[in-house]
Amino acid sequence: MTKLTLNITLLLLLSLTLPSCTVKQNYPVPWRGVHVLMTDQSKTEQLTQVVGELAELGVNALIVEVNYGYEYQSHPELRANNPSSAARIKALVNQCRRHNIRLIPQFQCLGHQSWSKSTFPLLTQYPEFDETPGAYPGNEDIYCRSWCPRHPEVNKIVFALMDELIDVFQADALHVGLDEVFLIGEDQCPRCKGMDKAELFAKAVNDYHRHLVGKHKIEMLMWGDRLIDANKINYGRWEASANNTAPAVDLIPKDIIICDWHYELRDAYESVPMFLEKGFRVWPAGWRNLEAAKAFINYSRQFDNPRILGHLNTTWGAVPINKLTSFEPLLYAVSSFRTKDK
Ligand SMILES: [Zn+2]
Repeated sequence: MTKLTLNITLLLLLSLTLPSCTVKQNYPVPWRGVHVLMTDQSKTEQLTQVVGELAELGVNALIVEVNYGYEYQSHPELRANNPSSAARIKALVNQCRRHNIRLIPQFQCLGHQSWSKSTFPLLTQYPEFDETPGAYPGNEDIYCRSWCPRHPEVNKIVFALMDELIDVFQADALHVGLDEVFLIGEDQCPRCKGMDKAELFAKAVNDYHRHLVGKHKIEMLMWGDRLIDANKINYGRWEASANNTAPAVDLIPKDIIICDWHYELRDAYESVPMFLEKGFRVWPAGWRNLEAAKAFINYSRQFDNPRILGHLNTTWGAVPINKLTSFEPLLYAVSSFRTKDK
């Protein structure tokens, strides 16, 4: 019996013995994924054009970060410029199905509600949801705005947007983002001032989990950086948390898939065993630095653990969508996680 067969057998046995409330692993590993910003319709069209080539290369999962770039019907006031229509999304969904690629939409929650001087639709239309309302005019001196996880009205609106994405994508999973949340539990927020930041972060995660896994019975993915203690693992304050959110890792459900992103070359990526030991499934995510991507892929593969899902290649504009199949880190990742069928 090969190791792979043994792992598959163990997985099957596990799925038979786990209680029914546990999310079933519907998709065999490895997941050879790509993360793409799909925040306007032109990107949706470009991506649809290359789905066949990506499948041919061996890609079997796509995370598409939509955020406000969809023609939302429940809240048209929250549409960004040139949002994707339902018809364009459905064309992408069909193309992915035809090529056996799992398509997972992403809606960036809590943080990343602005970029540079530009504040995104939710906090423009509903400034009362801002964690730091009225502070940092022009977004000076901050990285990105956050919404307040304790505002009593915010989830009602966010969940309506999630519901529309789940519907149009016929999604069986949603990625909720949650990376690089620097503004949380701020003094400018009358609800959160002085509160424990890990508990605030965990509340947000648990709210989204209840909606997605509890109500919709779909899987939930999130970025892992706020769950990594920068005092214990020396990643720095971007890819790990130096703002006291890390204890949230013990306050959230273990069926969440952690997308553990690291883009720099290191000897070790200690968050991988940390998340595994806590019981999470981990989808390591690299970027454009080829040597760093190779190091991260090789490091994560040594664990030979079925809860290492494969590799997720982020792009962040480093490669145009129509050139994705020549993106060297992606080529390395798919060849590393090639199986008999691909
Ligand atoms: Zn708040």
